[in-house]
Formats: sequence, structure tokens, C-alpha cells
Amino acid sequence: MNQLTSILLLFSATLLAACNVRSNQTPPAGAKSPGSPDSSKDPHSYSNPEQIKVRHVELELQVSFEKKALEGSATLTVEHAAGSDDAPLVLDTQNLSIDRVESAQGSRDFQSSPFKLGPPDKILGSSLTISLPAKADRVRIHYTSGPTAAALQWLTPVQTAGKKHPFLFSQSEAIYARSWIPLQDTPAVRLTYTATIRTPRDLRALMSAENDPQTPRSGEYHFKMTQPIPSYLIALAVGDLVFKPLGQRTGVYAEPAIAANAAKEFEDTEKMLTATEKLYGPYRWGRYDLLVLPPSFPYGGMENPRLTFATPTIIAGDKSLVSLVAHELAHSWSGNLVTNATWSDFWLNEGFTNYVTQRIIEAVYGAERAAMEEVLERQELMELLKTLPEADQILHINLTGRNPEEGVTDIPYAKGAAFLRHLEKAFGRARFDAFLHGYFDHFAFQSIRTSDFVTYLNQHLISSGGEAGQSNVPVDEWIYKPGIPAGAPQPSSPVFSKVEQQARQWINGQLPASRLQTATWSYHEWQHFLRSLPTPLPKERMAQLDAAFHFSQSGNSEILHQWLLMAIRNDYALAYPKLEEFLLSVGRRKFLKPLYAELVKTEAGRLRGMSIYRKARPGYHPIAITTLDEILTWDQNR
Ligand SMILES: [Zn+2]
Repeated sequence: MNQLTSILLLFSATLLAACNVRSNQTPPAGAKSPGSPDSSKDPHSYSNPEQIKVRHVELELQVSFEKKALEGSATLTVEHAAGSDDAPLVLDTQNLSIDRVESAQGSRDFQSSPFKLGPPDKILGSSLTISLPAKADRVRIHYTSGPTAAALQWLTPVQTAGKKHPFLFSQSEAIYARSWIPLQDTPAVRLTYTATIRTPRDLRALMSAENDPQTPRSGEYHFKMTQPIPSYLIALAVGDLVFKPLGQRTGVYAEPAIAANAAKEFEDTEKMLTATEKLYGPYRWGRYDLLVLPPSFPYGGMENPRLTFATPTIIAGDKSLVSLVAHELAHSWSGNLVTNATWSDFWLNEGFTNYVTQRIIEAVYGAERAAMEEVLERQELMELLKTLPEADQILHINLTGRNPEEGVTDIPYAKGAAFLRHLEKAFGRARFDAFLHGYFDHFAFQSIRTSDFVTYLNQHLISSGGEAGQSNVPVDEWIYKPGIPAGAPQPSSPVFSKVEQQARQWINGQLPASRLQTATWSYHEWQHFLRSLPTPLPKERMAQLDAAFHFSQSGNSEILHQWLLMAIRNDYALAYPKLEEFLLSVGRRKFLKPLYAELVKTEAGRLRGMSIYRKARPGYHPIAITTLDEILTWDQNR
């Protein structure tokens, strides 16, 4: 056991003692925590799908890089619930300028319809209320997106790899689709879409839809998504993009300068797809392609159906970070097929996906690597639990009045996966695999709430699972209480024990860095080694490590990130030029947030952070800026 692990264990014991409410009973069907929004309306949407539901949207949009705007129309096909023929249609918008609205019934011509934009809310945007003639089933909104639309990032040529052409990409999750399409922007509503996108002639448009790699560049592109998806999965990218096939159903789009490296890095994608099908049934979306975005993409990846958007920071040269591809692919089952109905149920998307990711990694790269990744994930979770308020440690989190972004922590991801791992251990792998396969089939193309999952779990696993399941898995504690239940299985890796031994010998001064046996170490072992080192670490010790292993020059973004965090904590100035370079070139929020948060802990660090942020901010995505402005207490008007 290394120092870090012992501290973590001590901490988790304290935490569990503090919240010793532990029940072995699973809650009754439909159970919810006090104040939970489980049976009420989605608190992050103004829309009224219980009266009128949008079934399809037809987009006609012109991409204007000069105006940083999408201009055109969205034609919605709507369906009235019984008795709601006269109800107005209420949509979500954010900073859209609405030109005019028309509606029609059947094959009749469109007629102008009165509409009203509600006052803007900082998080939710403005409602758009449209009065419709009785039985109108088509509504056309002519509009333009705002130049600072939260979902859209407009990159200048210098912000791309090729430096010659501009680039546009969207990020609709969680509630940003409304900043480029007027819609019922709630994951409870699923819709199909078609689109005509007009771009500058020399660029290529791609969407989360059927993309034909053979389409010539013409400046006009047509898309079709025939399976019903939630609005947060509608996605668009425009740039100088080329295609490289990976397998029969898989391929990668990227800027020409990085396409070859991307194809090499992701060459196991088809294998991952086949492995997942073996576990959980057929892939239902036709093709699975990846799109590598410029480095300012704020996320690791986004599971846009048929076309995962990915950060280039996972191209490490040795496939060591491709679990991100497994993660986005896993979403084709958990998230895209079976979808969280509100953002309080986000763990249904991400916890299931992290669990499935571990299973894909195990199937393709072996149990040893899967175990290492699970341990690293648990370490991050336990670190987070030290500082996260108890209310935010709950899987079924209450986000009413907050931006759903605030729920994007390791809780839905790592704690959610740990819960499923507990179920797997209690009921046995064969039984749990069959359960999960059945769950994906049962709820395919539906949006569900936590209570739907609990009911299904009770009916299909727990009530038929015998004594083992009943007594071992505190389902309600996992879902509705903070922390990690005491009986949670602890992931372990024998490989990491050897790494800890090496780390100890270096810490004790028994071995110089140059004599550590690291020749066969993978990324995971290096990461664990760095995390096993104590804080503070004297600067000369940092320098010894750097001289032996060149961490400040690491081409692996995760290792470099870990090292830069340590450099800030230990005031290791030799790494500061690299820190600045990293913060100026990478926009992935997972990396930026901890680095800036570490910097602001001291006055000298805060000044350094401010000076870098001033230069870097214009290149970051609006989503990352929202988070970082808060950490740096940045005044937008300065
Ligand atoms: Zn995910």
C-alpha cells in the first residue's frame, strides 16, 4: 500500500463513518430522494412536450464565418397530445434572433404565426412561445444564431492544424442546442432530423447523421438522421476535413495534417465495436466514425451518434489513451440508445458508459490494462470526494436552478461505474451481462429516469437474484446518498504494486531515478508512479526526475498534465514555460480546470495564471471560459 492509497482509505473510512446511513433495502419502484425532481418536468427546459411534441426538424442553414452565424430556418414537425389542439408551442432558445415564424397543416401553405420571446435567463435562455392554429403540424422558424452562441466555436485559420482554413464545431450537450436551433431542448424528447448545410466551397460539413465519405466538396451538404435522438446529440462541424477508413464500418475524419496519425492511433476501433456487440448486442447506428477536432475542443470526446467528436490530445502515439474512443463508442448503447431523461439522471448515461468502457478495454487490451484504468479512475474519484459538497456526491443529483455542467464531475462517471461493478460482483458476471444486454434492448431509443432504472433493476435482477444480491448491494445508498458504500468492491492492480515499490525506493533514497526499472512501463504505470509521489517534493527531486524521464517534454497529454500539476504544487519553475505552452495550446476543460485551480492557490501562482489566461482566453471554447472565469474570478468587462 502506498502513501496515497493509505490516506485515501483513511479518508473514505472517515467519510463513511460520517454518513453511516446504510440500508440493505432497495427502494420501492419510483422511489426518489427528498426534493428530487424525478416525476416532475425537466427543470432545464421551458418546453411543453406533454401538450405538443416535436418529432422531426428540417434544418436549412448557411454557415457564415464572417458573421460567426448560422442563418436560415428550422421546420419542426409537431404532434399534439389529445385535448391540446389549441396549446401554444413552447421552445427553448438562447441568444437566437428570430426573424419570423410560420405554420401549416397537412399540405396547406405556410401562414405567418405570432410568437413571443420570453425574458432571457442566464442558464436557460429564453422561451419562444408560438401561437398555432388548431391542428397545425408544421412550424417554420426563420432565425440567426448569435455570434457568441454557447454551442458554437468559430476558429480562425491559425487555431487549426492546417492554418489555412477556418473551422466551426458545435457542442450541444447539455443545454446548448438551443443556442443554434430553436427546439424542445430536453433529453426527454427524441426527434429525427434532416439538414441542408451551405458552407464556403472549399470546406466540408459533417453532422451526427449519415455521412458519406465519398461526398465531393461542393459547398452544399445534405444530412439525414432517421433514428430518434435527443436534441443534445445534434451536431455540426465544418472545416478542411479528409477521411481515412479504419474498418468496414469505421473511419476517421481529421484535418489533412493529422489524419494519418489519427488513423494509426484509432486503428483498433473496429475491434472495439465488435467486442461491444458481443457483450451487449448489435450496434444500431450504421457507421461509427470519429472526427478529430482542433485542440480547443473543451471535452475529451462527445458521443454524437455515428460521428464521435474527439480531442487531438488523446493521440499519444502508442494507443495509451484510446479508452476515450471506447468510452464514446460505449455511448452508442448507454446514452444514445438509452438516454437520461433529465440531467439529474446523467449518471445513467455516464456511469453505464464508464462501466462498459472498462469492459471494452478488457476485451480488446486485456484484464491487466482494464484493472489499471479502473484503479486510476477510483483514485480520481476518492480525491474528488475530499472536497466535493455532500449534495453533489449523490448519483441522482438535484440540479434545479443550476447549470447541468455543475453535475459533470467524477460522480456520475466513476461512482456510477463503481455501482455497476458492485452489482456485477454480487450477481456474477454472466448474470449481470445478460441483465445489461436486456436493459439496452428494453429501453432502446427511449429516454428514462433513475426511477425507471430502479424498477427495471428490481424486476430483472434483484428480485430474481437470490440472497447474494439482496444482502450485498445497497442500491438506495449508491443512488441517493453521498460517498461510496462501505461494501463497494475495491479495484486493484498487481502491476501497480510493483510501481509503488519502485516509487518507495526512490522516495527513500534507496535508488536514484536513473536506476528505477521503468523500461517496460506503460502510460498507466507512469501515471500511477507520479501520483504515488508525496507533496511537497523538493525542487531538486523534481529536477532529478525530469532529468531522468523528461516529463516536461512528455508527448502524452495525461502524463504532461499530471507533471505540470506537480510542478505548480512544488514551484518547479523549469516546467513553467511548458505550462504556459500547454495552457495556450490545449482547450480541454479536464486539463485546464485543475491547472488553473492549482495556480490560484498562491499569490504568485494567481498572477502567473492571470497573465497566461489573458492570452489564452480568446482561444478557449465558450464552455471552458464559463468554468475558468469563475476559477480566476475573471471580470469580463476588464
Ligand atoms: Zn461520456
